[in-house]
Amino acid sequence: MVHFFCAEKGHFGGFSLNEQLRLLRELQDVDLELKAIEADKERYPMEIKNLDEKLVSEKEMFKKREERIELLEKERRQKEGDLELEQERMKKAQSKLYDVKTNKEYQALLVEIETLKEINSQREIEILEIMDEIDELKRKYGRMQKELQEMEERIGAEKKQLEESLGKVDGALASKKRKRTMVTKKLSTELIALYQTLKEKRRTAVVPARFGACQGCNMKIPPQMFNEVQKSEAIIVCPSCNRILYWEDKIDYR
Ligand SMILES: [Zn+2]
Repeated sequence: MVHFFCAEKGHFGGFSLNEQLRLLRELQDVDLELKAIEADKERYPMEIKNLDEKLVSEKEMFKKREERIELLEKERRQKEGDLELEQERMKKAQSKLYDVKTNKEYQALLVEIETLKEINSQREIEILEIMDEIDELKRKYGRMQKELQEMEERIGAEKKQLEESLGKVDGALASKKRKRTMVTKKLSTELIALYQTLKEKRRTAVVPARFGACQGCNMKIPPQMFNEVQKSEAIIVCPSCNRILYWEDKIDYR
């Protein structure tokens, strides 16, 4: 139990101060762990959602490629159909050449045949271009299919891990909360109150004093006070930021 708080010196007094300081640090550690677990609890579902969205967008891109190939195949079939009809027309025109009666008719047929020839060779070029594009897309498509499959497996594994971690979060939270209750039971109410106030105001409540300075605000501590921190016989707060000070060596080699 802490019996008094000496405001002008910034000391708490009481028995087993060393133990109280140790418990305060433990409380702070537990609180930091709790905060981290709570952050994980919020983060995991968001990460899972992001992974799902990533996969959906990849699949959509893949589908667009597929649709592009389908469209080109359709275009190719269309053009091949046209080419066939025009070749048919050309054959008819060529066979008519032997039946024409007048030179005028003959010349007109020759012009028609020539025009059809041009159209057909243009059509053939177009078909070849489409086929090239299809080949190129199919090559990329095969690669994408493999990449997509790999990505699906990777995302699946990541998701499984996240879901497993998420499943453990509530248990971890409950266990840390139990530990917190156990620690606070052993701490004096005055110290808990001071700790809470400092935590809300300064985020960290208990900080080491190192090289004669408070490691919370980096301000120098008067030498006399630093000696007292080293003795660990009283709760001493930093004169600048009011954080509770501890001497690391003393704590670490307890
Ligand atoms: Zn300070």
